Amino acid sequence: MSDRLLNFSAGPGTLPLSVIEQAREDLLSIGEAGAGICEISHRCKTYDEVHDGTIAHLKRLLGADDDWELLFVTGGASSQFFQIPMNFGGDADYVVTGTWAKKAAAEAKHFGSPRIAASSEETKFDRIPSELDLNPDARYLHLTTNNTVAGTQWHELPRSGAPLVLDVSSDILSRPFSLEGVSLLYAGAQKNLGPAGTTLVLVRKDFLASAKDDLPTMLSYKTHAAKGSRYNTPPVFPIYMVGLVAKWIEAQGGVAAMGERNQRKADALYAAIDGHDLYQGCAEVGSRSQMNVTFRLSDTSREAEFIAKAAEQGLAGLKGHRSVGGIRASIYNAMPEEGVAKLVEFMKEFAGA
Ligand SMILES: *Cc1c(COP(=O)(O)O)cnc(C)c1O
Repeated sequence: MSDRLLNFSAGPGTLPLSVIEQAREDLLSIGEAGAGICEISHRCKTYDEVHDGTIAHLKRLLGADDDWELLFVTGGASSQFFQIPMNFGGDADYVVTGTWAKKAAAEAKHFGSPRIAASSEETKFDRIPSELDLNPDARYLHLTTNNTVAGTQWHELPRSGAPLVLDVSSDILSRPFSLEGVSLLYAGAQKNLGPAGTTLVLVRKDFLASAKDDLPTMLSYKTHAAKGSRYNTPPVFPIYMVGLVAKWIEAQGGVAAMGERNQRKADALYAAIDGHDLYQGCAEVGSRSQMNVTFRLSDTSREAEFIAKAAEQGLAGLKGHRSVGGIRASIYNAMPEEGVAKLVEFMKEFAGA
């Protein structure tokens, strides 16, 4: 496995090695099917088990009971930006905490008059806004729980009385999480769940019942709920992979264990940033993300050298998002603690040199 680097990429992100190894086998032949996972019917018995098993597993990990539908749709998290207001109306509150949140708010304009309840754009999204102008009568309140580009995260969600709709693309299943007050959450798979190609949508059945009916078939959540996410051919391989990742999380001790491990990883990395003048965290301390750790070098002209030297040591994917530059270490569930320890070691060496 010496050709596999420690991958700090923000997405698609690193996956557990045991999951990749299982997939390698199942690509050739899965179960009794006599064919690989990408070649079997999405209505055969082997796939029934994969599909239904994945949904059941994820619902357990998310703490979602029979009041919830878990759907797999396509088009990435970006398609949820319009699909949500298309189904529920766009007269909603949006908190603009980053690039993705801003895009989500912009799409809602096609279906209503979204309000910006708060924005931290003026300070380059370096924080979660503390002052919110919330409308309890809004159709919903949309938040991005973790801001993948800026490296900030909500540590406690605000409540307005309006149903909460959450983009959890980059921190789903990374820590214990309460569904109280939540009506819908969604996540593109490729950050913390699996490969690109499917988007998980968890929606409360009573909220779903309030969705519009007169919509293009494929864009209506009700279609996918009625058919168990098999109205048409689902993205079989990504769903299968998400199922393996869910099993892996459970084997690691579930989301509680993930949360503790992720906390230790983030603490170690932020301590390395705060421990040397060469490094400057981008996010305000109280808003720091446990998943995407962003920082600059006080001498920004050395950032390219930092990234190149890190790569020489097998530490890959550390370049910040193209819109902001700097350094970003994405430390999703599948990044082992030893990987973060190696990065911390490298940072100390680089700062001392
Ligand atoms: C990556 C990301 C998106 C966009 O996901 P796609 O699946 O590429 O459309 C949306 N929201 C957040 C928080 C993200 O991290």
